[in-house]
Amino acid sequence: MNTRFDAIVIGTGQAGPALAARLSQAGMKVAVIERKYFGGTCVNTGCIPTKTLVASAYAAHLARRAGEYGVTTGAPINVDMKKVKARKDEISGRSKQGVENWMGGLANVTVYRGHARFDGPRVVRVNDNVLAADKLFINVGGRALVPPMTGLDQVSYLNNSTMMDVDFLPEHLIIVGGSYIGLEFGQMYRRFGSKVTIVEKGPRLIAREDEDITQAVQEILEMEDIQIRLNAECMSVRKEGARIVVGLDCAEAGREVEGSHLLLAVGRVPNTDDLGLDKAGVETDKFGYIKVDDQLRTSVPGIWALGDCNGKGAFTHTAYNDYEIVAANLLDNDPRKVTDRIMTYGLFIDPPLGRAGMTEAQVRASGRKALVATRPMTQVGRAVEKGETQGFMKVVVDANSKEILGAAVLGVTGDEVIHTLLDVMYAKAPYTTISRAMHIHPTVSELLPTLLQGLKPLA
Ligand SMILES: Cc1cc2nc3c(=O)[nH]c(=O)nc-3n(C[C@H](O)[C@H](O)[C@H](O)COP(=O)(O)OP(=O)(O)OC[C@H]3O[C@@H](n4cnc5c(N)ncnc54)[C@H](O)[C@@H]3O)c2cc1C
Repeated sequence: MNTRFDAIVIGTGQAGPALAARLSQAGMKVAVIERKYFGGTCVNTGCIPTKTLVASAYAAHLARRAGEYGVTTGAPINVDMKKVKARKDEISGRSKQGVENWMGGLANVTVYRGHARFDGPRVVRVNDNVLAADKLFINVGGRALVPPMTGLDQVSYLNNSTMMDVDFLPEHLIIVGGSYIGLEFGQMYRRFGSKVTIVEKGPRLIAREDEDITQAVQEILEMEDIQIRLNAECMSVRKEGARIVVGLDCAEAGREVEGSHLLLAVGRVPNTDDLGLDKAGVETDKFGYIKVDDQLRTSVPGIWALGDCNGKGAFTHTAYNDYEIVAANLLDNDPRKVTDRIMTYGLFIDPPLGRAGMTEAQVRASGRKALVATRPMTQVGRAVEKGETQGFMKVVVDANSKEILGAAVLGVTGDEVIHTLLDVMYAKAPYTTISRAMHIHPTVSELLPTLLQGLKPLA
């Protein structure tokens, strides 16, 4: 016997809970299914715990630099990893519990704990329950990718989830993957006191960014004595006693790094392989991402896919924006769509990188006439006063429309400052909106008008 609902939400990541709440407010009878931790990746093994750990690492870093500010501390600075983890668990756990209580307390919502699988286009099984609805929303997220690598089955390794259980200081952490997740863990563990080596397959870190950003980020990490090994095109791993050895080159045996622990941070895969999508007729692409249109409808009418599993974004804010798009279309008669949004994200090393829109390289490739301006953080008063002058900011503007095409702020509070530029981009206003504005002194944002007054043709 099927239990009938108006809507079924599979997964409680960054889109599902808010959508379930809206649907229930609209008077629908809703089923919410979660197989593991309420709140999903961001709350339990992603953004919240990592940024909590980044804050502990920053405290250690600043404590070591205290003398530069005229502050005396009892040296040496030590990090109590058990307390660091306990603080992280407390903050992340509170958030998880908040989502669980929220879902449990919603009117018209029944929460099921277990793995959901489609049994047909309108039917989902969870444990011994068979649920049916005319509207189904898939918000199953993703997990860490395990790359094909010789020897990986012979060694133990960590990923972003198992890193959450670490309550000790690895002597030498080798991180495979020189992108956002790898760099955040790398700087954090270096600041906790581990030796850190980041191994990257490609010729540079964070390859989707402009080369000047990559260069500056690499310098920031190397200043803290993080070892970076690039061009590791053919990697292998092996055990040597209690040690782990990562080979960087299949042809050259001696090119290798030896450490105590290995973290793999080489990308994500969607949780769509064990969802019975074939029984529902929902199409995926060759990487397993669910195919959706601009309003997040799948190939089957009545089924939507939101968040990381649809491949349209890989961030908490893109997942939440997916919820807003679906809710607006279904409940508010507002035809919002994915292509309305401007890509934006942060890299939460210290100092952070805030990014919006196109990179300079993308603008060049587009062939349009453009203007560019850059300013080093050494010329930003607030950064100098804070003693945090690494990085720079850059804005690229369309020479004809005067609209901002893209921006990067790598520097203290760069993850916040970027929003001034982003919101003007959403307004489709000319850059002169900012260059003629008066900002607060002394702030990092204060220099945005000055930066834009110095625009020059992109050479
Ligand atoms: C280390 C790390 C750091 C990150 N930092 C940031 C950051 O700073 N900023 C940012 O914007 N993004 C960050 N991200 C990315 C962000 O966490 C994700 O983009 C976001 O969580 C995606 O949300 P989602 O709703 O798509 O899925 P998820 O949050 O992954 O949630 C999916 C949920 O579905 C459940 N589920 C899966 N399959 C089933 C099933 N068959 N039945 C029932 N339940 C199921 C899962 O248990 C999970 O709870 C980070 C990611 C990682 C790994």
